[in-house]
Amino acid sequence: MIRHTVLPYLTKGAILFFMLIFIAGCAAKDAQHSSASSSLVKKEQMKKEQMKKEQRKQKEQLLTNAEVSARQYDYQKAINLLGQSDFSKDKDVQSTIHEYKNQEKKLAVWPDNYKIPHLFFHSLIVNPSRAFDGDNKTQGYEDYMVTINEFKKMINQLYERGFVLVNLQDIAKPDKKGKMVYQDIKLPAGKKPLVLSQDDVSYYEYMKNDGFAKNLTLDANGNVTNTYVNEKGESVQGAYDLVPIVDNFVKNHPDFSYKGHKGMIALTGYNGVLGYRTSESDYGPNSENPNPNIKKDQQQAKKVADAMKREGWKFASHTWGHLDAKKVTLCHLEKDTTKWKKEVEPIVGPTDTIIFAFGSDIQDWKPYSNDKYQYLKSQGFHYYANVDATKTYWSQSGPDYYRQARINVDGLRMSEALTGRNNVLKQFFNVNQIFDPLRPAAKKLIH
Ligand SMILES: [Zn+2]
Repeated sequence: MIRHTVLPYLTKGAILFFMLIFIAGCAAKDAQHSSASSSLVKKEQMKKEQMKKEQRKQKEQLLTNAEVSARQYDYQKAINLLGQSDFSKDKDVQSTIHEYKNQEKKLAVWPDNYKIPHLFFHSLIVNPSRAFDGDNKTQGYEDYMVTINEFKKMINQLYERGFVLVNLQDIAKPDKKGKMVYQDIKLPAGKKPLVLSQDDVSYYEYMKNDGFAKNLTLDANGNVTNTYVNEKGESVQGAYDLVPIVDNFVKNHPDFSYKGHKGMIALTGYNGVLGYRTSESDYGPNSENPNPNIKKDQQQAKKVADAMKREGWKFASHTWGHLDAKKVTLCHLEKDTTKWKKEVEPIVGPTDTIIFAFGSDIQDWKPYSNDKYQYLKSQGFHYYANVDATKTYWSQSGPDYYRQARINVDGLRMSEALTGRNNVLKQFFNVNQIFDPLRPAAKKLIH
């Protein structure tokens, strides 16, 4: 009886036991299964979040790029950038497009393209004590150059006074028939167009050891910068001349530049360009002073020029040999132009602009008509610049050319401002606040 009664109990117990084990096993398997599927879900979620993050980043970058164009008064570019992107339906992007369309309506066409001043500079002095060391070049540097400290103050004041950098092509352009026509420059109230140029960016041989940059080059990120050989003889990289200084300034103040345009670099050829001894006639293997690295230097100079063009700089001829275009014969001008095209153009590309050396010009103020003009026109020159600091602006839009006068910003002009002999700089900046105390004339002129 006991056996009968115990056995079923045992059997029942065993069944229960096995059932429990079975249930436990299933639960474990379930748990295993669910943990596997939840990690899959998590992975999926992480992937989605990563994608969202990536998209957010792309959208932010897009909005940032569009904002730079908008701040540089190029609302069409900003709107196209946003409207043609993958985010064109995005709410933020849509509202930004709407905002830019409204801002664009507030721009007004600059009323008179005749009234646009043009300031020009030479290489900037990095170290005044080296430039003004009393040797026979000191006076020249004092007269024709500006120090970095002065230049930085100048662009700050130009910016504060509402000036915006435009290039000559923004002012006037040849139409399909070659007729030069004024272009609309659209700016908000209070902003004024200004042309900027820099001459002789060759870092000429004579300037060595006098406290100027050695060349324009590219930094590790491909940005335009300078090499400067300091007092200890060490080569350092940084913004030691006008181009990278303006680039940096526009990075921080995009609205100082109209559509990303910066200025014009007027180059001769006889000492090479941009600090590289690239001239075949002066540094080639058969020259008196051969440069063994000439090919490499030509390539490097081209890379720098390409980067400058991408950054909004344009190049102009300053004649190959720094000629006085008024004094030389037509034949000389022709030979010189051919040399510029042979040695400088392969590096900086073709140009339609000639900025005459010595502030010279090929003719007086009457519309161009002489044979020098006919020749230069046949060589593709449509823009001409001379120097005239007696007025704030002067230009002439001929039937097929645009000619503009420039004001030299240098020690001579600043000294004239400080002694009241010429007030042309007054509307651009306050020379009293700018004149470098390290200039030899500072004690006499600054009170
Ligand atoms: Zn010059």
